[in-house]
Amino acid sequence: MTSFTLIREAYPSGFPVMSGIVGAIVGSFLGVVAERVPGMVMEEEGSSNLLFPASHCPVCKHPLAFWENIPLVSWLVLRGRCRQCRTAIPFRLFLIELFTALFFGVSAGFMPGEQGVFSLWLMASFLLPLALIDWQHQLLPDCLTQPLLWAGLLIHAFDNALPLRDALLGAVAGYLSLWLLYWAFRLATGREGLGYGDFKLLAALGAWCGWQALPVIVLVAALSGIVGYFSFNNLNKNNLSISFGPYLSFAGIAVLTAQQFGFII
Ligand SMILES: [Zn+2]
Repeated sequence: MTSFTLIREAYPSGFPVMSGIVGAIVGSFLGVVAERVPGMVMEEEGSSNLLFPASHCPVCKHPLAFWENIPLVSWLVLRGRCRQCRTAIPFRLFLIELFTALFFGVSAGFMPGEQGVFSLWLMASFLLPLALIDWQHQLLPDCLTQPLLWAGLLIHAFDNALPLRDALLGAVAGYLSLWLLYWAFRLATGREGLGYGDFKLLAALGAWCGWQALPVIVLVAALSGIVGYFSFNNLNKNNLSISFGPYLSFAGIAVLTAQQFGFII
């Protein structure tokens, strides 16, 4: 019996709560990643990075005190506004923290084994900012898709959930399948239907889930993409999202979760 299982059995409700708190802290950092990485990729280098400048109000520049930077709590205490200039703090930052906290807490409570929980947390910590950045900017930065791919290969070099060969073939097949689709679509219609970021993201998901899972990942992504397209199309006609990244991310999480529960995909 592993220490993880012992902790979980000794504290049946404490462990998911602790994981939820860890999730809120991670979510707070993921919010910073989602806010800052597009600027770091598109603008001149050196203007900002994930650690510099320290958290501050983008309008009045006032640096945040420790208590103004506590995940979930600070947004509620400040009622979503900067203490000094009363500018609204984006509600999405609060939602990212809340979502990550719930995701970590629920997965800690229900996932069958520790490898599965930590793999899922690591994968989600890349996919959540990727989905948000692609949603807002139609961009899947290499600085997130590539470490995600390497992390998937590395994990399967050491765990026994998936043979490393399946992970490696998954990465290659994931990239090539969308690359071929891109060129077929482009030659047939003269238009670009996908971006290179999508190929790299599916390569990363192939590394995590294995080549056998690729058809299911693409199917789930396409179906949720169709549902999403028509839902958001009706909701907001000014913001027609054509990003595939959020749906690929969702499909990756769904398939990895199903695999942890023993579904052979
Ligand atoms: Zn301010």
